[in-house]
Amino acid sequence: MSNLEQTLSIIKPDAVERHLENEIKEMFKNNGFSIVKEKKIQIEKSEAEKFYKVHETKPFYSDLCEYLSSGPIVVMALEKENAVLGNRELMGATNPKDANEGTIRKKYGISIDKNSVHGSDSVENAKIEINFFFKD
Ligand code: UDP
Ligand code: MG
Repeated sequence: MSNLEQTLSIIKPDAVERHLENEIKEMFKNNGFSIVKEKKIQIEKSEAEKFYKVHETKPFYSDLCEYLSSGPIVVMALEKENAVLGNRELMGATNPKDANEGTIRKKYGISIDKNSVHGSDSVENAKIEINFFFKD
């Protein structure tokens, strides 16, 4: 049965800074994702704090929000069958050291904090996150 989904992807500041935007988009397209919404923006730390609110009690929360707002990012809605899980697989583990060969984080990630991409972790959160950046 068909299960077309959308998921939110962010190309994070470390990757935009290294001019990896197009290479990472090619990886999505080569893996069957359509980029249905897209914009390049820089957000305020206060917006990053809202976006990552689920992590507010974590020790890395402040640094994470500082980092996500430190430079331009590319936010995209990606569409594919089972897009949420498919994007998590293509991204690889949070820590690039643990990521499988062929994943975005293995290829481009620098460290657990500078891991090049964000991806929604559930269909429910994907809807919330897409709406966060693309409310119209
Ligand atoms: N993060 C970090 N230190 C940690 C764990 C996570 O800096 O010990 C950052 C990392 O950039 C990660 C983000 O916080 O991508 C969100 O964490 P999450 O556990 O949701 O990982 P993800 O869903 O991005 O794989
Ligand atoms: Mg997460």
